[in-house]
Amino acid sequence: MLDDSCVSVRREEERMLHRVDLTPKDPDLYRRVVDAKVIAELERLAAPLQGARVLQVNATAYGGGVSTLLRSLVPLYRGLGLDVDWRVMPGTPDFFAVTKGLHNALQGAAFDLTPERRELYLSHNREVAAALGGEGRYDLVVVHDPQPAAIRHFSDGVGARWVWRCHIDTSHPDPAALAFLEPLVAQYDALVYTMDAFVPAELRGRPLRIIAPAIDPLSPKSLPLPAELIAGIVEWAGVSLDRPLISQISRFDPWKDPLGVIEVFRRVRERVPGVQLALVGQMALDDPQGWAMLRQIQDETRDDDDIHVLTNFTGIDDVGVNAFQRASSVVLQKSIREGFGLVVSESLWKGTPVVAGRTGGIPMQMPEGVGGYLVDTAEECVERTVELLRDRAAAARLGEAGRRHVREHFLITRLLADELRLLGSLC
Ligand code: UDP
Repeated sequence: MLDDSCVSVRREEERMLHRVDLTPKDPDLYRRVVDAKVIAELERLAAPLQGARVLQVNATAYGGGVSTLLRSLVPLYRGLGLDVDWRVMPGTPDFFAVTKGLHNALQGAAFDLTPERRELYLSHNREVAAALGGEGRYDLVVVHDPQPAAIRHFSDGVGARWVWRCHIDTSHPDPAALAFLEPLVAQYDALVYTMDAFVPAELRGRPLRIIAPAIDPLSPKSLPLPAELIAGIVEWAGVSLDRPLISQISRFDPWKDPLGVIEVFRRVRERVPGVQLALVGQMALDDPQGWAMLRQIQDETRDDDDIHVLTNFTGIDDVGVNAFQRASSVVLQKSIREGFGLVVSESLWKGTPVVAGRTGGIPMQMPEGVGGYLVDTAEECVERTVELLRDRAAAARLGEAGRRHVREHFLITRLLADELRLLGSLC
């Protein structure tokens, strides 16, 4: 049992905003993958921001796309000489259950945003805003996603200019969820969405930017790996190197349809005997729904030796994800809704073809004839996966075209340049 002092320490931790300390990273390192003039442009765009204090706030330092992006972007901002802090909003399981419900509702699911849930969300944001007040004044505050969106409403004098960065697919939101969030985000000086189609009509009049996310080719998740290491990791996880492998690498989330992936895999196996499936999932700290979903997947796959359910808790870290994306014959991303889906660009960067749901930010990563196939139904998903498993030359051509497309549009240097332009315009 916890004694009183433990309880008060825990309460204190729940109020604190954890600072993620990251060493500056020299942008020149990216000359390994992009032209020198790209780096020069970053330096030019950073110049007017020298001396400005910038704060990035999100809800988790670990798990999911937003923390992946910040983990790579913040060191690069610092490498450009900018004063950028990254703070993580604390939260209780009850708070994150509400914010996950709100997230799902903004992507179109039903969620009863009761007065108690609204109050929990708002009062916690109020507390976090008060804690931020002790940190001095920032010139720019960038707030990511709905979890901390209300801190702007409760913050007097914390930031001079505020940006709300929405990473989710809000093209078909639940009207009640949108009506709740809209007055809170309308107070920001700029809103950033991944696609124009995600911008709700109610927010069209606000200052707006469309900026797509990107992958970091020098992160452990995307660095080149020697074949021996790839083989070693995948075999260690229990996967045979002598048989074809399909993977889906995603949080365990209903929008990513992992149960649908299992069904597709079983139908593919009837036509391509020997094929294996890896479901690699990361348990994000702000996603309580992931645990229930993992249990469901485990129940469904317990007696199926061809399916490997792997997580960061069973040793599949960033290098492990990298190895699986490289070792797979086909990567699936059978999403029903998807803000962007970094995993698609991550896989394409490795030349691995992808079969993915035609939704949200995925199609921009895989235009017709590039990277693999977009699908609308489970049948199509089965057909296209079988096709790629059988025609390895076509699979390699699609993967290679995908890699070129990612190089051109979805590397972190492009994202950093877009963000520097936005921050420069606000400063
Ligand atoms: N990821 C990971 N380990 C896993 C599963 C996913 O590191 O077991 C990473 C994945 O490589 C990607 C991020 O989590 O970088 C997920 O981002 P994405 O945009 O695809 O989806 P989100 O989780 O933000 O909805």
